Amino acid sequence: MGTLPPVNPRSDHDLDRAAGAALLAWYDRHRRRMPWRVTRGRPDPYRVWLSEIMLQQTTVAAVTPYFERFTQRWPTVAALAAADEADVMAAWAGLGYYARARNLIACAKAVAAAGAFPTTAAGLRTLPGVGAYTSAAVAAIAFGEPVAVVDGNVERVVSRLLMLDVPPKRAPARVAAAVDAMMPPRRPGDFAQAMMDLGATICTPRKPVCSLCPLRAPCRAAAAGAAEDFPVKAPKKARAIWEGVVFAPFRPDGTCLFRIRPARGLLGGMPELFGSAWDIAPPAEPFAFAPFAARWQEAGVVTHGFTHAELSLRVFRADAAGGLHPPAGAFWKAPEEAGLPTLMKKAVARAA
Ligand code: SF4
Repeated sequence: MGTLPPVNPRSDHDLDRAAGAALLAWYDRHRRRMPWRVTRGRPDPYRVWLSEIMLQQTTVAAVTPYFERFTQRWPTVAALAAADEADVMAAWAGLGYYARARNLIACAKAVAAAGAFPTTAAGLRTLPGVGAYTSAAVAAIAFGEPVAVVDGNVERVVSRLLMLDVPPKRAPARVAAAVDAMMPPRRPGDFAQAMMDLGATICTPRKPVCSLCPLRAPCRAAAAGAAEDFPVKAPKKARAIWEGVVFAPFRPDGTCLFRIRPARGLLGGMPELFGSAWDIAPPAEPFAFAPFAARWQEAGVVTHGFTHAELSLRVFRADAAGGLHPPAGAFWKAPEEAGLPTLMKKAVARAA
């Protein structure tokens, strides 16, 4: 993969307002129709904000019916602020990421109390649940503020335009500078939506359609025939390997001995078998972690992947008769009634 020198060697990019104008001309013909978009004048900030919150980690197709139901039932931010919270949460059910719905209610109350939405990205950023991207999008689309609006689609487009040699998340200033260089002075909201639409429909993750792209002329990746090599990905971090031991004693009635994990941390507050902490080194004295002395037999190993680590647990089992003295906090329970997390279900199944 070769690197093209920039037209202006002192600049990070070859982009200018002519590129932005070409993109807007394309948008005027090919924009996606969405219920929160308007073709004339400025859209209602309430509808823009609501759509942007719903669209976080969610597709346009999934959001559209929710957006229509919400705006029919609560047509203004004041109506949403006055709504019964349980009704709003019920209307949100199925859209996922429920922290968004709680922030939605808090934000609607804050805006209703203030009388209107703040009109700048900096002001919008102070609202509950409104981060850097959402504040910029609402400021540009609803209030015409010329701010760079950068979502995943825009990062991909700019990475290709520049042949950005690092993952875009590591170069936010370079991405924003490229967007700023193209931004037309009059229609920043349409420009923001045009960049998003281009990323969603033309400059797609796989098989971008460069032959139909309004930014084909200044695009370095297209000129190099290397569009799909961008954005550059961050190298994956190797996951840590943890090791540990657990002990599964079974009584004749089929019950097994459990305890409750500490409230904080992995599997917090969940039931588990007795055993060691999970660490990068296996425990030197595994039987020191047994709940009591017994004829422990090794039953095998179970593995489990967490986000940052791969856990490997040695499982020991024993038949437990009467007269044992398990530690405080222990309880006997049938495994299927204990509400075990997947890892512990696997360990009990290995021991049974
Ligand atoms: S020319 Fe191709 S790679 Fe470049 S921005 Fe357009 S679609 Fe993306």
